Amino acid sequence: MKEKREIVQRDAAVLREKAKAVPVEEITSPRIRKVIADMKAAMHAQKDGIAIAAPQIGESLRIFVVAGDLLEKADPSYKGGPEDLVFINPVIEKLSRDKKEMEEGCLSVRWLYGKVNRSTRASIKAYDENGKKISRGASGLLAQIFQHETDHLEGVIFTDKARELWEMSAEEIAELQRKG
Ligand code: ZN
Repeated sequence: MKEKREIVQRDAAVLREKAKAVPVEEITSPRIRKVIADMKAAMHAQKDGIAIAAPQIGESLRIFVVAGDLLEKADPSYKGGPEDLVFINPVIEKLSRDKKEMEEGCLSVRWLYGKVNRSTRASIKAYDENGKKISRGASGLLAQIFQHETDHLEGVIFTDKARELWEMSAEEIAELQRKG
């Protein structure tokens, strides 16, 4: 088995590619299962790792994963439970016209943060990791995540869209890494 994968940083070419769809019959294959397991491991290794897209571990595939446990903590309105959510070949079906500037960061853009105008509600259709079709609506943080992660699959990074960008201070980074 390969070691746990690194999260690639913003200059990596793979972050700028349009990621490839996963053939539906391959969703439960060992190769794709391994990619998903590696994504989860890379995400959970980061204290602030609330979501990750496959290109962020160097795989140009249309997959993203959301950490249910961190989502619950960060957004009390989320009632989905602590399990990780997996979205394969996701397509955003609806975005609310209502938008808000939301603060955003990215595991591949250490340690910049910015404000991005995002729809406050979004719905998505995708396949889950068992190859079942799913359809899900979201508001708040999960709606923001849907937009941030599907952008990754198009080769778009939040800094392309952010209106303001700032760098987290060394103290703030240390504080964040202490949090459990
Ligand atoms: Zn990101």
